[in-house]
Amino acid sequence: MIVPKKSLGQNFLRDENVARNILEGLSLHQDDLLLEIGAGTGALTNHLFGNVEQLLVAEIDPRAVDVLRERFGGNLNILQQDILEVNPRSLAETYGRPLRVVGNIPYYITSEILFWMIDNRAAFKDAVLMMQADVGRRLVANRRTKEYGILSVVTQCYCDVEILFKVSRNSFYPVPKVDSIVVRLRMRQSVPDHDEKLFRAVVRGTFGKRRKTLMNGLRFMGFQEEQLRSTGVNLKRRPEELSVEDFLELVQKLGDLEKVLPQRTQRRHRVHREEEDSL
Ligand code: SAM
Repeated sequence: MIVPKKSLGQNFLRDENVARNILEGLSLHQDDLLLEIGAGTGALTNHLFGNVEQLLVAEIDPRAVDVLRERFGGNLNILQQDILEVNPRSLAETYGRPLRVVGNIPYYITSEILFWMIDNRAAFKDAVLMMQADVGRRLVANRRTKEYGILSVVTQCYCDVEILFKVSRNSFYPVPKVDSIVVRLRMRQSVPDHDEKLFRAVVRGTFGKRRKTLMNGLRFMGFQEEQLRSTGVNLKRRPEELSVEDFLELVQKLGDLEKVLPQRTQRRHRVHREEEDSL
């Protein structure tokens, strides 16, 4: 064992049943290309190892990497690096198939990992991830609920998401402050064509002013009231009332406007960065 580092989100799994249930949730095939995020000292790896031809694990902590080497020898392909620096497209290309992902992920970068997957989604098939229960619930949240927000809309746009099972905080060492949940994400094959940058900016910008109407949120982003009215969209609604499809439709109309209003910008980028921090 190694002394857990809080700064690396190290809450090691100590319940074998949870690992077994994750393995079951994956339904592995021998020829799968599997990437484990944050392998730690191998609590989950131990159940994955030998079940697929290609198992890659990413782990940032050199102390944990030493343990993994000792435990699994040279047969385990370890990427000793920050997962967010891993290029999934080149891995998928090298191995000639999309990645399947698994992990008891470090909670301090949960949303970054989700966006890393979404931004590179062509490289992935699916993922089974253990994360904080409240974040998992946000991923599957329906509109008009308090959990529905940026993460829900962006994730549901690109993935089919489902909750597999809950995990008690007592399954980890050290015991974290919150319970966990295991979620399956399957990359959607057919997402309607849209301006992805604008989609993100609009979702972030409007939820950044969650209690305001779309009209107010979009005006704060730099769109002009008169132009917004010309879209014919009902802008008296609040962002949480919009489904993913409603957002896509809104973005389509705003995109048409952008062609008329090319430099509505600096404000939008400011909003973008602020919201990025507040996820
Ligand atoms: N899989 C192990 C288990 O279930 O016991 C460890 C899970 S622990 C919640 C998260 C692991 O992710 C830690 O081992 C930590 O060192 C690693 N980690 C933290 N930040 C990381 C990063 N940016 N890239 C890769 N691994 C990271």
